[in-house]
Amino acid sequence: MKGLVLYPDGHYALDDVPEPALGQGRYAPHDVLIEVAYCGICGSDVHGWHVSEGTRLAGPAKAVVGGHEMSGTVRAVGPAVTRVKPGDRVVGEIVTNFCGECVNCKAGKVNICVNVPPKEGRIHYTEGGAFARWVTWPDFALHVLPDSVSLEAAVLMEPTAGSVHCLFERLEVRAGESVAILGPGARGQLLLQLARAAGARPTLISGVQRDARVRLPMAESLGADRVVNIDEEDLIAAARELTGGQGFDVVVENAGVASAVEQAIEIARPGGRVMISGGGIRGGVTIPLHTWPVIVKELTLYGEISHNWSSWNTAVQMAARGQVRLEPLLTRVYPLSEWEQGFSDAAVGDDVMRVALRPD
Ligand SMILES: [Zn+2]
Ligand SMILES: [Zn+2]
Repeated sequence: MKGLVLYPDGHYALDDVPEPALGQGRYAPHDVLIEVAYCGICGSDVHGWHVSEGTRLAGPAKAVVGGHEMSGTVRAVGPAVTRVKPGDRVVGEIVTNFCGECVNCKAGKVNICVNVPPKEGRIHYTEGGAFARWVTWPDFALHVLPDSVSLEAAVLMEPTAGSVHCLFERLEVRAGESVAILGPGARGQLLLQLARAAGARPTLISGVQRDARVRLPMAESLGADRVVNIDEEDLIAAARELTGGQGFDVVVENAGVASAVEQAIEIARPGGRVMISGGGIRGGVTIPLHTWPVIVKELTLYGEISHNWSSWNTAVQMAARGQVRLEPLLTRVYPLSEWEQGFSDAAVGDDVMRVALRPD
């Protein structure tokens, strides 16, 4: 089969690769053979491809088929599989290998396993991913899609699960709290919808000039009380105005640039909660943090990474009930043979939320 292969040096090529089969991988006999419908192009996929040589994250140890934002149909199951059956439409979690024995794994927080760093041992970097027609996935990391969730929409389930983890499991956002989201990409739009579903009001989302054509209007259509183009408007003033001068209860920095971290701290109210969330796929950002506002406002700073089974379960159920809309965020689908155009759109398109590839 054709597979879009990610090489250890970070480059991709559409190559002939062997079809995966049950019983071969590390999760056999709990492995499931899936016919891929779509695989989203994540920022983490593009990052290795688009940015200059010197700033690439380490690629996989050996050449593997890339892609992890997978939806598809189960075609065969290993002998120990009971959770899914052939014909089920499924979405797959990113599987980050974990030890199962440490204090966090024992508490179900396998995303912060003490013994396996979060960026290491991702299954699509060891077993191969879903930029191909066939992929195997461990059954414990699959979720059956309810009828009301399409395979197209399911491409967005992974960032939705991450947003559930960020907003509900980490920040514990509640009804009536004011929430600001800095950065209007797909992740920002999902955070916005989840905040609204939880009853958070008012909500603000900010972006820059390149977001003005599609992303900020999208946020408006999804219910943001205020959208701010920070290249044209004063974010601090807008935040003050929207919150009656007190600042936001919760601010999610989702842009991954130093100025956004500073703004997040600035627009949080005294006693507020600030999530440092953007820039994770690039290894974070380094900033000289002025600690005074954190001290005098008694801010609580949060981090978050990935998601857990519970985050996925919540994401799938909320999508099924229409509490979060995923379809508007899938901007374009390309056949695998046109992967370069897809990656280019995902990397630099200012009209793009999510781009997906499908097998030819
Ligand atoms: Zn992703
Ligand atoms: Zn562990």
